[in-house]
Amino acid sequence: MLSSGSLPPSSSTSTAETMNLEGRKSEVLIVGDLSSAIDSIAELSNGVRVPVVSDPHVLELHGRALAEIAEDPPILVPRGEEAKTWAVLARIIDELAARRVARGTPIVALGGGSVGDVAGFAASLYKRGTPVIQIPTTLLAQVDSALGGKTAVDSDGLKNVAGTFHSPALIVADPSLLDTLDPRQITAGYAEVLKYGLIDDPSFFDWCERHGKALIAGDCDARAHAVRHCLAAKARLVRGDPFDRGGSRTLLNLGHSFAHAIEAASGLGRLLHGEAVAIGLVLAFRFSAFTDFCTEEDVERVAVHLSAVGLPTRLDHAGVKGAALFDWMLHDKKNAADELVLVLVHGIGRAFVARALDRSALRHFLARL
Ligand code: NAD
Repeated sequence: MLSSGSLPPSSSTSTAETMNLEGRKSEVLIVGDLSSAIDSIAELSNGVRVPVVSDPHVLELHGRALAEIAEDPPILVPRGEEAKTWAVLARIIDELAARRVARGTPIVALGGGSVGDVAGFAASLYKRGTPVIQIPTTLLAQVDSALGGKTAVDSDGLKNVAGTFHSPALIVADPSLLDTLDPRQITAGYAEVLKYGLIDDPSFFDWCERHGKALIAGDCDARAHAVRHCLAAKARLVRGDPFDRGGSRTLLNLGHSFAHAIEAASGLGRLLHGEAVAIGLVLAFRFSAFTDFCTEEDVERVAVHLSAVGLPTRLDHAGVKGAALFDWMLHDKKNAADELVLVLVHGIGRAFVARALDRSALRHFLARL
């Protein structure tokens, strides 16, 4: 096991990193086969069978790998964003109570970011906090949502309105689980992969330009490399700002203020989250060029690559007008009471947090789209 810092640049099987987030340890296992993580899960649960939260589709495809250590039956939640409601959260907690799950028994979240968000939230509340093990099964979840401890449900058409910070005790990322994923989901998750290159790693952006298409098409080595690289990048950014208090972690929101507004304005569910992020990344670059922070060449390079891998880059792909985003963006969680905060860029790999931005500049920019 590595002590901390970056993950090794080797092949996909059985390497591990331990990171420390404000005294809480999250171990990351990147495995070539989920069943090879069974011993690590059993060790955490002291041999007790673990409750598994999953959706019916993922469970059918990948649940068998956990049969040896999972409680039967699993706790099922709806597929996708519909899992992230108060009703589903309450049902998971009621189910854990009905099964008399002891505090300290880890809850396993097997699925994409939606399952991970709601199961992690339930784990953080159940008996005032029981461990969660994240087993991400989408590209987005493997490169992003499984790590960092953010949990959430949606409310009143707004995403992630309520949630907690609850770092997983263990993350098991098996890139081969992605083989069953719908190509649209893989492509959408790729937006979050590219984001790491755009934040502070131009050489990773170059790698994405060379290998992005292969990754999406199913190249195992490219997928394993991206998962490893992105988790290491996210671990680094989270370590500097574990509770998202305006430090390095804020940079992970590059493109997301626009994306959340696009998702809200177009109606939750019309676009996949990663698709909204792709448009949001381009808008963050376009607004940076509009305010003279970066060049049009950078904007074009990002838009051309996203488009080449099949991601949407324009608002008409979402069926919304720019002006419709303004009010949603003012509600963004990053804004302080009276200031507009956005993650913008000085170029590819040079993101920064822009504070006290001029609201009228944003309104003017959006009105033209
Ligand atoms: P998802 O969890 O909504 O799942 C999408 C679909 O993929 C579901 O229908 C599911 O059944 C299916 N699926 C999952 N894994 C599969 C597999 N291996 N094979 C076949 N089908 C599979 O999608 P997502 O993109 O992973 O997650 C999106 C959610 O993640 C959003 O709600 C977003 O807000 C959240 N998120 C959270 C964080 C965080 O830090 N907590 C970060 C980014 C995104």
